[in-house]
Amino acid sequence: MSIEKFSVEKVLSVHRWTHNLFSFTMTRPAHFKFTAGQFARIGLMVEGELVVRAYSVVSSPFDETLEFFSIVVPDGAFTSNLQHLKVGDELYLEKISYGYLTLARYQQPLPQDLWLLGTGTGLAPFLSMLQDFETWNKYQQINLVYSVRTESELAYVERIQEIADLFGEGHTGFKFIPIITRDPNAALHDRLPVLIGNGELEKAAGLSFNRDGSHVMLCGNPQMVEDTKEALKQRGLIMNRRGEGNIAVENYW
Ligand SMILES: Cc1cc2nc3c(=O)[nH]c(=O)nc-3n(C[C@H](O)[C@H](O)[C@H](O)COP(=O)(O)OP(=O)(O)OC[C@H]3O[C@@H](n4cnc5c(N)ncnc54)[C@H](O)[C@@H]3O)c2cc1C
Repeated sequence: MSIEKFSVEKVLSVHRWTHNLFSFTMTRPAHFKFTAGQFARIGLMVEGELVVRAYSVVSSPFDETLEFFSIVVPDGAFTSNLQHLKVGDELYLEKISYGYLTLARYQQPLPQDLWLLGTGTGLAPFLSMLQDFETWNKYQQINLVYSVRTESELAYVERIQEIADLFGEGHTGFKFIPIITRDPNAALHDRLPVLIGNGELEKAAGLSFNRDGSHVMLCGNPQMVEDTKEALKQRGLIMNRRGEGNIAVENYW
C-alpha cells in the first residue's frame, strides 16, 4: 500500500465507553471531504507495517475534526493496537473517503420516513447523517434504531439527544429506539429481524414500513444485515439499486 495515499493526523481526544468500545477524534486535513454516511480508511503503524481498516465517520461533514467509534477485537490486527491510542498519537488517514451508504443514493421512492438500523459501532454513519440539517429537512419521520447486547454498550445516548435537539429543533418526528438483546427487561430485546417480523419495531416507532416512502438503512454485523434485509423484503420493501428501492446496507465484516 502506497504511503503517499495517506496524510498523517494527530489524535485529539479518546473517550472509553466500555472495555471494548471507545471513540476518538483526530485532526481533519482540508483535503479530506466526505458525505454523511461515508467511511475513511485509517492506518496504524504496527511493527513497521501500515495496517489499514475502514471506519465510518461519526462527525458531520461540516466539522473541523474527525470522530470515530471503535470496537476492540481482542486479537484483531488493528484494534488490539488501536485500543491503546492516546492524545497526541499519530494516525494515517487515506486522503479520500469511500462508500455508498448515503442519503443521496435514494431517488425513488421520494423521502417520507427514514429508518436507521445499526448494531454496535454500526451506529457511526447514522450519527453523521443526523448532524446534517439536510437529513432533518428531507424526512417527516426519522427512527434511529440501535441494537446492542447490554445496556453498558449503549454508547452516545446523551449525544443522540443533544444532536436531535440541535439539528432537529422544531422537528416532531424523531424517535430513538434502543434494543438490548441480552436484557429481558428491556422494552425491546429481540433481534431486529424478529422485531420486524412480529411488528414490534413498527409499534415502537408508531409507524409502518411503506414501500412508497420508507428509506431503510442497515449497518454493522453482516448476519444482522442479511436477516434484517430478508425480514424487510417479507414486508414488501425492496433493495435500493441504481437509486430505486428502500433498503441500503453496509456490512462491517
Ligand atoms: C465500510 C466499513 C466501515 C467500518 N466502520 C467501522 C467503524 O466505524 N467502527 C468499527 O469499530 N469498525 C468498523 N469497521 C470494521 C473495521 O474495519 C475493522 O474490522 C475493525 O476495526 C476490527 O479490525 P481488526 O483488525 O482489529 O479485526 P479484523 O481482523 O478486521 O476483524 C476480526 C473480526 O472482528 C469482528 N469485528 C470487526 N469489526 C467489528 C465491529 N465494528 N464490531 C464488532 N465486531 C467486529 C468480526 O468478527 C471480524 O471478523 C468497518 C468496516 C467496513 C467494511
